[in-house]
Amino acid sequence: MSDYETVVGLEVHVELKTESKIFCSCPTKFGGAPNAQICEVCAGLPGALPRLNQKVVDYAIRTALALHCEVTRESRFDRKNYFYPDLPKGYQISQLYAPIGRDGFMDIDLSSPDEGSITKRIRIHELHMEDDAGKLTHDEASRKTFIDLSRCGVPLLEIVTEPDFRSAEEVVAFLETLRTMLKFIGVSDCKMQEGSLRADVNLSVRQVGADELGTRTEMKNLSSFRAVSKAISYEADRQWKVISEGGTIERETRRWDEEKEVSLAMRKKEDAAEYKYFPEPDLPMLHITSQKLATARAELPELPQERKNRYVTQMGLPKYDAGLLSAERKIAELFEKTARICGDPKEASNWMMGDFMKLLNDTSTAPEEIEIREESLGEIILMVKEGRISRASAKEVLRSAFAEETVPEEYATAHDLWLIRDEAVLMPVVQQVLDANEKAVNEYRAGKTKNLQFLLGQSMRATKGKADPSVLAMLVTQALQNDMT
Ligand SMILES: [Zn+2]
Repeated sequence: MSDYETVVGLEVHVELKTESKIFCSCPTKFGGAPNAQICEVCAGLPGALPRLNQKVVDYAIRTALALHCEVTRESRFDRKNYFYPDLPKGYQISQLYAPIGRDGFMDIDLSSPDEGSITKRIRIHELHMEDDAGKLTHDEASRKTFIDLSRCGVPLLEIVTEPDFRSAEEVVAFLETLRTMLKFIGVSDCKMQEGSLRADVNLSVRQVGADELGTRTEMKNLSSFRAVSKAISYEADRQWKVISEGGTIERETRRWDEEKEVSLAMRKKEDAAEYKYFPEPDLPMLHITSQKLATARAELPELPQERKNRYVTQMGLPKYDAGLLSAERKIAELFEKTARICGDPKEASNWMMGDFMKLLNDTSTAPEEIEIREESLGEIILMVKEGRISRASAKEVLRSAFAEETVPEEYATAHDLWLIRDEAVLMPVVQQVLDANEKAVNEYRAGKTKNLQFLLGQSMRATKGKADPSVLAMLVTQALQNDMT
């Protein structure tokens, strides 16, 4: 069997986290009683008129800019007509002719055995807004199907890529990067288990080196990275087997059966013409002003991918650490503030990746719930660097700063955590310890130098662990040598 390559393009549906729906003011909350969040507009009653939620437009523009798309200044909505019980108005309001964004890209990092990691650019064909449909639940026992229209009108963005993927790994890397980015710019929660990020996979295979694309199939609504990965491997093998045996691939929509891990033919793929698209007559042209665009540009934060690169090139962090620290906006901002205050990005990264992440895990705190003063961690790191506090005490200070928003300086003072560095205070303690351990002192003087550790330990214990270790070591060594002469 000769070598083949897999060609994949994606259509990703992202649910936007607006409070209300795209064409009415019903709430978008997940869960809740069936049909509790509907009105005449989203339930598709005759004569009800849609009103466009401006927040959806803002989020769409922000996403378009983050994906380096050209924003369409005269955007429009179109009706995609089809009948299905979960779509009471008989059409979806989508964008075919003038989508809000076009011709963008997103870079993804791929691991490569030779070079550590390489960057690949995935082109974005377009980005458009549309409304979601309802949800059907099939009850086998009663042989009934239930319809919940609460999802109708939940705002979606559809992101369509060019067929630039050549493996399941690339697709998963893209989806992970996209999810991180969308959460970072605050347009979606991207909870795959709640269906707020779903991918349709368009896949074809061809002989390695061939220019033309093969006939593609579409697998819809894959809702986990694992399913995406499994479905791609299975479908690519299936297609190549058909071709190798002299068969032809049908242009069709296939269903991925997550339990049996097989793809099954569902229906012949519809062409755009079969949906009888036409401009939505109930919504006016969507004119994006220069000012709106300029504001969106100005408000777009530095994106995770760019931050990650900056952490690696300017701060010298390993790629893995840089990736983790740049993934969540709150974490990234806290890290940068910390690095600035303590003047040591590496140490800031160590504390963030170690003790700080552990606190988040132990307390099941989501990044957006963090309430620590943003200066605190940087101040704590400085205290350790300046030798004013032990590492163990610093962890205690951090725990309190994290849980109760205490100010590190005040907490350390209140709990008497400062290290003693005053020689006038420490010297008498050292002398007392040496006097009490005459045997060890004499052995040291006779050449048993390892007794120094013992005497240091005893001195530290005598200060209840509060002495600055370097000052104490200096004093003990000095005292032992002074007495020798
Ligand atoms: Zn409604």
